[in-house]
Amino acid sequence: MSASGELRDLYQDLILDHTRKPRNFRELPQANRRAEGHNPLCGDRIALAFEVDGGTIREAAFEGSGCAISVASASMLTEAVAGKSVEETRRLLGAFLAQTAGTAAEAGGAEVELGKLKAFAGVREFPMRVKCATLAWRALEAALAGDDKSVRTE
Ligand code: ZN
Repeated sequence: MSASGELRDLYQDLILDHTRKPRNFRELPQANRRAEGHNPLCGDRIALAFEVDGGTIREAAFEGSGCAISVASASMLTEAVAGKSVEETRRLLGAFLAQTAGTAAEAGGAEVELGKLKAFAGVREFPMRVKCATLAWRALEAALAGDDKSVRTE
């Protein structure tokens, strides 16, 4: 098997691991930022909750249901942003969307190391799956903007 094939398998394992055992899948009663994402094309519904204090995301959690990609993406999102400043999180968001949706990196996004989140780079080849992968991130975007509302990624 080629090196890139092995890497792809590694990433696939990572996504499956988060689908089977979603991290931070719980209520967050003390949350002060919330947003919901709904992807009607696939039936994914993800509700994100964040506790933001002093410009830092103290805790992140999610609830909902969806396909393997949307759940793994939300799970990895909550892991990635907990403890980060809102500013760092915005840069990570920009980098993730740039990678996954194939859009241009937003301010500073190009310099952000995505680490494990590179697992979602492959979805770019599957337009239907891009919406699944970015759903939680669009909701994060809305939550950080302070819009406590439902977000649709259509
Ligand atoms: Zn989906």
